[in-house]
Amino acid sequence: MPVTNEKARRYRTIDKTCYAANIGYLILHLFYLTLFLIAKLYVMVYVTAAIVGIYLLFFLLIKYKKYYIYALCCGNEFFAFIIFSSLMIGFSTGFHFFLIAFCVVSFFTTYFSNKKNIKNSYIWVALSLVIYLTLFFVSEFNAPFYTIDKWLEMTLFTIHAVIVFALITFFLAIFIKYAMSLEKKILKESRTDELTQIANRYGLYDYFEQEADKSKKVLALFDIDDFKKINDTYGHVAGDYVLKRIAEITKETLEDCFICRYGGEEFVVVLEDNKLNTPFERLDTFRKTVEKEQFIFEDMNINLTITIGMMEYIGGKDLQKWVDLADEKMYSGKRSGKNKTVA
Ligand code: GH3
Ligand code: MG
Ligand code: MG
Repeated sequence: MPVTNEKARRYRTIDKTCYAANIGYLILHLFYLTLFLIAKLYVMVYVTAAIVGIYLLFFLLIKYKKYYIYALCCGNEFFAFIIFSSLMIGFSTGFHFFLIAFCVVSFFTTYFSNKKNIKNSYIWVALSLVIYLTLFFVSEFNAPFYTIDKWLEMTLFTIHAVIVFALITFFLAIFIKYAMSLEKKILKESRTDELTQIANRYGLYDYFEQEADKSKKVLALFDIDDFKKINDTYGHVAGDYVLKRIAEITKETLEDCFICRYGGEEFVVVLEDNKLNTPFERLDTFRKTVEKEQFIFEDMNINLTITIGMMEYIGGKDLQKWVDLADEKMYSGKRSGKNKTVA
């Protein structure tokens, strides 16, 4: 994906996340406002009403893309409201739970930020812990400003516990899902040859681990004849084109086989008996197809041949030995004139 597209996508995600977060905060504070009104906790009502107003203004910050200032304001309000509410209506209302969720969110945002400065997250965690313990000890030695009814205390505690569990689950789930898809992508890339987009040598190792002894198989190793000459005559770029085309022809001709670029201009194919033709017949047909193919690159007409060595599955888990035996056959084909399939 082009960098500008990626950047635009990232901004859209940040924008949407900020809007969602602001709407969430707003709803939560409106809910507090209702509860405080019912419980007639007027200081809390005034403060919460002011915060609702501030959150409405925050929409302007998001609209004008002042995301950093928005995050800073939100963060400050977040800490201030937790401290204020815990002191006013008691530690047992569970406002402090948010501090735990905040630690998770802090690492999450660090990971997805541009700078990825994890030190900042440690600072936020330390700050959250200090506030958490301070609120706890202060509440142990001082009564809150309001002594609230049990129903309100239990409602707030329950709601905070649910929100915080949900937040932690949500952020960790997103993070794990992202990490898993990234892992899959990296694994796939590490097993794919960049030039030909077929498997590379490591892809063959994985394939062998999973498939080797499931059914009777034949491993064939083929090498382009006089490829150095092709590079020297037509240029390295033409050589690259030939390699790509060879990979395509192999896929088309030996469609149900595992194929990989083993290195340079050497390829490995693993075939199973398909009842209609023996592996030798199929490989030799493939060799003849390559021989007949006209490789046309920038008005240049390139012809080439390949030499194939094949070896039946030797049992056990020694892939290298299997490859070496096929390689020996291939080299005997090279020595005896090239453009051959040797079984
Ligand atoms: P033989 O018939 O004995 O196989 O002769 P050859 O010239 O093909 O053999 P050799 O192994 O000596 O040469 C292989 C050449 O393949 C050398 C190297 O420059 C070229 N080569 C390896 N990887 C690439 C690649 O990715 N692109 C291109 N264009 N050439 C490559
Ligand atoms: Mg060669
Ligand atoms: Mg070679």
